[in-house]
Amino acid sequence: MAPDLRAGIDFGGTKIEIIVLGPDGDQLLRRRVPNPGSYDAAVLAVVGLVTSAEAELGRRCSVGVGIPGAISPGTGLVRNANSVWLNGHAFDRDLGEALSRQVRVENDANCFALSEASDGAAAGLGVVFGVILGTGCGGGLVIGGRVLGGLHRIAGEWGHNPLPWPDAADLPPRPCFCGNNGCIERYIAGPALAEECDGPGARDASHIPPRAAAGDAVAIAALARHADRVARGFAQIINVLDPDAIVIGGGLSNMAHLYTAVPPLLGRHVIADSVRTPILRNVHGDSSGVRGAAWLWPK
Ligand SMILES: [Zn+2]
Repeated sequence: MAPDLRAGIDFGGTKIEIIVLGPDGDQLLRRRVPNPGSYDAAVLAVVGLVTSAEAELGRRCSVGVGIPGAISPGTGLVRNANSVWLNGHAFDRDLGEALSRQVRVENDANCFALSEASDGAAAGLGVVFGVILGTGCGGGLVIGGRVLGGLHRIAGEWGHNPLPWPDAADLPPRPCFCGNNGCIERYIAGPALAEECDGPGARDASHIPPRAAAGDAVAIAALARHADRVARGFAQIINVLDPDAIVIGGGLSNMAHLYTAVPPLLGRHVIADSVRTPILRNVHGDSSGVRGAAWLWPK
């Protein structure tokens, strides 16, 4: 019988965190340790977190892990992780052997979407698109309570599509680190919003909403422009996928304009007679990644 306790592990750049959820998603235990910064030590750290949690709770857990990267379906090896020493390793297999059970490993944006679809802002909805707006722009897709990875395990990765319906202010297409020009990420991630308000080189957008609320015209214009671009990006998702909800996470997700200014702008480009797609703020905040990793083993 499958364990009814779920351990989720979240791989951050500086720490590794574990959460254990009870059968109904209640948090039973949460710990974090420093990320040791090398592969063998990281496997040992995860094993240590799981075994000590199980000893403390006196129960066996299922184990899911969220990583900032993906397991390639072709090779079975991690790729694109920003903890680069994870790349090229069969992390799920190695953890599974070390823990004597099957371990599920998923991209952290997919874990975010799964967390919010399981018992967060989009609980109970069928098709959920999770968007992470922070220093970058990621996404994940959950259908019927399961992550849809896709043939290449890139489903939901919309940040490096081009910004749709560009206008004069969006041109020429901005160069992106990925090698293409005009990527959505270069227009709607946090640094793009910061540059819109404060000029080239600005990185921090967190001060912009309070400045706008105080009547700063430059900040107000930057947020309006940002909302317009986000709405165009979301409209394209809706036209392809028509999700039951879009849930926003990441550092920008506490900005009110995403929930007030964006929805009225969707109708310009969504080919439905009235657009009802809920644009939702996440419920679990910084816990979404680790909770979603736990929910990789669904009820
Ligand atoms: Zn790009």
